[in-house]
Amino acid sequence: MSKQVIDFITDPRYVRRAREQRTIAAMLRMYCHAHGHGADHDLCPDCARLLDYATRRLERCIFGDAKPTCANCLVHCYSADLREQMRIVMRWTGPRMLKRHPILGILHLLDGRRPSIRLPEKPQKSQKV
Ligand code: SF4
Ligand SMILES: [Zn+2]
Repeated sequence: MSKQVIDFITDPRYVRRAREQRTIAAMLRMYCHAHGHGADHDLCPDCARLLDYATRRLERCIFGDAKPTCANCLVHCYSADLREQMRIVMRWTGPRMLKRHPILGILHLLDGRRPSIRLPEKPQKSQKV
């Protein structure tokens, strides 16, 4: 029997990360348009780059669908500059999400209550004398 291969994000077993990706996309659209960055309905290059990056991080998240929100993550796999950009976007969009996207906003608030996850410590390398 051949091994089963599933598509990440589009597969129903990845519902949480797929929804989180939609939430981030909605937040970035709100932020980008309200700040007059993009033309028409497109994201500006910086916001599009941030969305691509966040999507890739979600796809490769070490915690899978059990992940905490990235803001509560102890690993934090983002680069320092993009993490700061995302923090700025989230801080601006957070209070506005419930009005514009109530379901995504409520689910994201609930996700924020998920515990942070600590990874097991790596074994110490024995020191040679
Ligand atoms: S910051 Fe943490 S929760 Fe978010 S994608 Fe990276 S490892 Fe996963
Ligand atoms: Zn933008």
